[in-house]
Amino acid sequence: MSEQSCTHISAVATIKRPQRHECDECVKIGGEWVHLRTCQECGGTHCCDNSPNRHATRHAQQSGHPVIASAEPGERWLFCYPDNAFAKY
Ligand SMILES: [Zn+2]
Ligand SMILES: [Zn+2]
Ligand SMILES: [Zn+2]
Repeated sequence: MSEQSCTHISAVATIKRPQRHECDECVKIGGEWVHLRTCQECGGTHCCDNSPNRHATRHAQQSGHPVIASAEPGERWLFCYPDNAFAKY
């Protein structure tokens, strides 16, 4: 776990929190999720890599949106996909 943050994480001025506590994509397909992550570029909320559909990672790959935040209550961290960088806030 690194305390160094990348330029993508540094560029996040206000942390986006989930609007609804559900995965936007799983809702459409009737999927299930384990944990939720919120995209800091578009505010979309998607499921984590422990979930069967891994929508957060898929969203980052398809959209190029680099940074997610945990959408779980009590978790305060950001992750950048291209830099594999993790930061608490
Ligand atoms: Zn980055
Ligand atoms: Zn999902
Ligand atoms: Zn996004």
